[in-house]
Amino acid sequence: MTTPRPRIVLLVSASVADSDSLQRDLADDPDQACTVALAERGDQALEQCRDLRPDCVIVSDTLLDTEGAALTSALQTELPLPPPVILLVDAGNETIAHQALRRGVYDYMLRGAAPERIRLTVRNAIEAAALRASLEQQRQALAASVAQQADLAAERDKLAQKEGETRRLMNEALALLDTLIDSAPIGIAFADRDRRFVRVNRALALMNARPVEEHLGRCPSEIFGDIGAAWERWWQTVLTTGEPIVNLEVSILVFGRREYALASYYPVRDVDGNLLGVGTLVTDISERKRSEIGQRVLAAAGSILAASPDACVLGDVVRTLFPDLADYGLVHLRSPRGELQLLAAAHREREFEAQLATWFDAERLAVSGEAHPITRVVAEGQTLRDAPGLITAEAGALPEQLQPATSVIAPLLAHGRCLGALTVVSVEQGRQYIGEEVAVIEELARRCALLTAAAYSYQEVRQARAAAESAVEQRDRFISTAAHELKTPLAVLLGNAQLLLRRAEQDFSLDAVNRRNLRIIVAQAQRLNRLIATLLDVSRLESGRLVSARVPVDLCRVASQLAEEHTPTLIRHVISVDMPDEPVLVAGDELRLEQVVQNLLHNAIKYSPRGGEVQIVVRRDKNEAVLSVSDQGIGIPEAELPRLFQRYFRASNAEARQIGGMGFGLFVVREIVESLGGTVEVQSVEGSGSTFTVRLPLWTSGPALVPAS
Ligand code: ADP
Repeated sequence: MTTPRPRIVLLVSASVADSDSLQRDLADDPDQACTVALAERGDQALEQCRDLRPDCVIVSDTLLDTEGAALTSALQTELPLPPPVILLVDAGNETIAHQALRRGVYDYMLRGAAPERIRLTVRNAIEAAALRASLEQQRQALAASVAQQADLAAERDKLAQKEGETRRLMNEALALLDTLIDSAPIGIAFADRDRRFVRVNRALALMNARPVEEHLGRCPSEIFGDIGAAWERWWQTVLTTGEPIVNLEVSILVFGRREYALASYYPVRDVDGNLLGVGTLVTDISERKRSEIGQRVLAAAGSILAASPDACVLGDVVRTLFPDLADYGLVHLRSPRGELQLLAAAHREREFEAQLATWFDAERLAVSGEAHPITRVVAEGQTLRDAPGLITAEAGALPEQLQPATSVIAPLLAHGRCLGALTVVSVEQGRQYIGEEVAVIEELARRCALLTAAAYSYQEVRQARAAAESAVEQRDRFISTAAHELKTPLAVLLGNAQLLLRRAEQDFSLDAVNRRNLRIIVAQAQRLNRLIATLLDVSRLESGRLVSARVPVDLCRVASQLAEEHTPTLIRHVISVDMPDEPVLVAGDELRLEQVVQNLLHNAIKYSPRGGEVQIVVRRDKNEAVLSVSDQGIGIPEAELPRLFQRYFRASNAEARQIGGMGFGLFVVREIVESLGGTVEVQSVEGSGSTFTVRLPLWTSGPALVPAS
């Protein structure tokens, strides 16, 4: 047990009697030791209070008016726990004491009071002060605690405010995110780890053709069956691997329409990296995809059609629709007699093609008469979509691969005629062709129709050409036979006429008129002879017997001889010949070479009706012999020059001037020259004249340069 600190009582009094009696009374306190310190004045007392920290101060009333009052208030203000002040008064001075009590003095005691009384008063004062101090301490502790509570409350308010702000920002961000997700043009979904939809935006709901609410809390397989199960498998892969799957092309049937989308699946994690689920982004690419499919089909069909203009490629054309637009397709054509024929039956799985051909063959269609949709389309030229009665069989009789789910029968229209029908079928249950797909099928039908029309007209042209060729052949055969038949009697006729004429000119047995008539007969018979010779050339050309021999022929001699022969008969024309003195030898058939020069010379005279110079030039040019015949006649229109050497071709200006001819001479010239290994060409200016130039290989002493044909 600790001994309590002895109490210190400060007596402020200048009176020795006071100090003696109080020291005695207090020192003798049996309950508690007490030390009495003394101060005579107020300032001393204050000093001692600071140093000694007395438990009680007893102030003599003798100091009351002066230092006592000052001391009391100084003690109150200067010390944190001022000691209680007891006023020591003489008996009868109680009034003063009561006044002092009002000014802060704790208690008073009378001088000369019983020691117990004195000690009790002091003890009370000290205990009351201690109690007051303790109360003060408690008050202060309470105040501190209240202040702390206030601080805490303020802190809490601050936190709450902060939290409110954070929540507000978060709500704003969520609202923004909601708006973004809901107004995004792409489908967005979030699924939890159990593959249940947690969030689905409007775009995706629209693509899936289900309201948003129908998705929430459910797995795709519960909503979309097999397709949903496939979807879930992708999610599961992402959940297992934690890796995203990006831009997967998917295709689904939505209310019968085939829709296409690009889907991406991403793992979604919280800030600590824990997998929360899987996010899905879906972009609808149906429009782009459909147009791509359409273009691809038409381009592929276009190149097939361009490569072979034959109706037998129509099966391959139908195949371009597989697999996106059809599972099988048929082409029926109307024969020229109006009957339908099945031209192509193509199936994605070729093993079904035979069966397909059976079900759609023309006879089976004919059983249902006009009522069959294909027959109707061909008759009316209008597309039919999902027409009933396409297959005339009992549904059960058909394998699944032939059961139509949706179909289009498009007419094959070309140049205003319906040539047949293209039938396109998808067996995908629930599918229905939409407008864009029908448009592609109709375009394909149109292209098939154009090909068919072209093939028809090609066939017609071929038939017409074959007929024309046969007619030409018959004509040539007739001409050849006729010419041969005419040749002998004409030779006899001409020989006898010439004999008669020679005689008549020698013995004048006929008069002048008859002699002239006889000359006309001879001249016309000779003309007829030339015509027959030309006709025979035609048949020789056909049989390749025009040039027979290969002997050295002097072109100079041929040219000068023919010039000489013609000169006496000419009135308006002058023939000039320009050639070297030595022979210009070529390998040929003399008769045919004469024919070449003769034809060119004859034309030069004939096509210069106003006369003028006709020049023949023969020369050597390196290892070639060159013969040219020039005139100053009507010339040839430039545009017609390329066709000049064609058989039966006649220039328009010759026709216009009614200059007679068959258009055969130049053809014969070219045939002869080319068969001798040479060339012939023409230069001409319409209205000024023409030059025909023949080039032939010079004769060499060795074997003939050109083999006999
Ligand atoms: P033809 O003279 O019997 O009509 P050709 O085959 O000899 O037949 O000639 C073909 C065509 O070439 C002639 O019809 C004529 O238009 C043209 N032609 C030929 N030679 C000449 C020429 N020297 N001047 C102008 N036109 C010519």
